[in-house]
Amino acid sequence: MKSYPFERRSWAEPYKIKMVEPIKMTDPAERRAAIAEAGYNTFLLRSEDVYIDLLTDSGTGAMSDRQWAGLMMGDEAYAGSRNFHTLRDAVERHYGYRYTVPTHQGRGAEHLLSKLLIQSGDHIPGNMYFTTTRLHQELAGGVFVDVVIDEAHDPANTHPFKGNVDFDKLDALVAEVGADRIPYVCIATCVNMAGGQPISLQNLTALRRWCDQHRIMIVHDMTRLAENCYFIQQREPGQESRSIAEIAYDICKLTDAATMSAKKDPMVNIGGFLAMNDEQLYDKACNLAVIYEGLHTYGGMAGRDMEALAIGITESLHDNHIKARVGQVAYLGDLLNRSGVPIVQPTGGHAVFLNARAILRHIPQEHYPAQALAAALYADSGVRSMERGAVSAGRDPKTGRDRMPKMELVRLTIPRRVYTQAHMDVVAESVVDLYHHAEKIKGLRFTYEPEMLRFFRGRFEPIEP
Ligand SMILES: *Cc1c(COP(=O)(O)O)cnc(C)c1O
Repeated sequence: MKSYPFERRSWAEPYKIKMVEPIKMTDPAERRAAIAEAGYNTFLLRSEDVYIDLLTDSGTGAMSDRQWAGLMMGDEAYAGSRNFHTLRDAVERHYGYRYTVPTHQGRGAEHLLSKLLIQSGDHIPGNMYFTTTRLHQELAGGVFVDVVIDEAHDPANTHPFKGNVDFDKLDALVAEVGADRIPYVCIATCVNMAGGQPISLQNLTALRRWCDQHRIMIVHDMTRLAENCYFIQQREPGQESRSIAEIAYDICKLTDAATMSAKKDPMVNIGGFLAMNDEQLYDKACNLAVIYEGLHTYGGMAGRDMEALAIGITESLHDNHIKARVGQVAYLGDLLNRSGVPIVQPTGGHAVFLNARAILRHIPQEHYPAQALAAALYADSGVRSMERGAVSAGRDPKTGRDRMPKMELVRLTIPRRVYTQAHMDVVAESVVDLYHHAEKIKGLRFTYEPEMLRFFRGRFEPIEP
């Protein structure tokens, strides 16, 4: 496994800046008022009150001059837009999937796919859950089953492929419910909820064999495919001289269908798609798309956005792009590691995850330490992050009780091509300061709890000791 910094020279961006967007500087009193007004939920802040926005890398990337040029080539015909054909050609050329249905974003694709493949009482194994993915599986009557390796749930473990599947867990599930109640295995590349951790080509190849034996499909959540490919290139024996594009093609070839949130890897502000190789499934997906998304040749996207997406797919697979992208995340991770701040190891592909449980030892999980840390970080420096812990995990649909995940994390997500190394320095300084004064941070309780995906719109208040 190669270590950072790569080779003997620093990573640096393979682009230069030709347009800037000014950001507002706020003072501590303004930020304390803003986060209180937002109910201590960073999702409810106004973005203009945020200095460095690390809430998400979703739709927040900087498009290239070529992508912006693509916007001018929109063919906004209701049916059969030229841009749809450009998009579907790009998907087939780079990912190998024969059929593409555009959707308004990733969850649109998840909705269609879950409705098509899941029957009530089915079980859907996955290498860890993702919020919208699991919810659509549950809404379709399915039960999500986590089959990721145990190492993925241990933030200190440095396993190079924490997105790998544990075949003992899969075998146990088949023994319990039978292969015919498992329509597909859902595989995320660079598993978001594990900290942006990759699955190896070897593990996925073994999964293909296992699924063929049991006649089970593999659905690929390909939102962060390029980042996963980079880790394979850097860490997996025999892969070091292969290009990101070659590895990406191989991964997709091992899977049957895919959902994509185009707001991540391919760097557009909105969009997504469902892709697959089976013609009958495609036909059914088109019928559902017409009901829920839009005609099957635009599915909720403007023609111009499909053009920018097609260009973004190509750019996302350039070796120099992904080296700088993951390199910037590693840079922030290294700064925090050197200061002794507990973060998820190894640093992931899109984000640095703070281990809020280890940082705020005085706050019990029922008082949502990660939510409290995210609020405190904003108040300290205007840096916006996101909770990934008990609030995001929600309640168990059967018992109604809080699900208490092993990991209680704050995600510092780096948008693609947006911030500089100096911004990363400011973020690290603020986190280190909070770490040294952690005892001042108080736990939180809900004052308003939405029924579903409560982390988006929930409101909180501090618990006075
Ligand atoms: C963002 C994301 C989704 C959902 O995509 P949206 O475009 O936000 O609807 C699904 N899976 C993963 C892993 C994601 O990161």
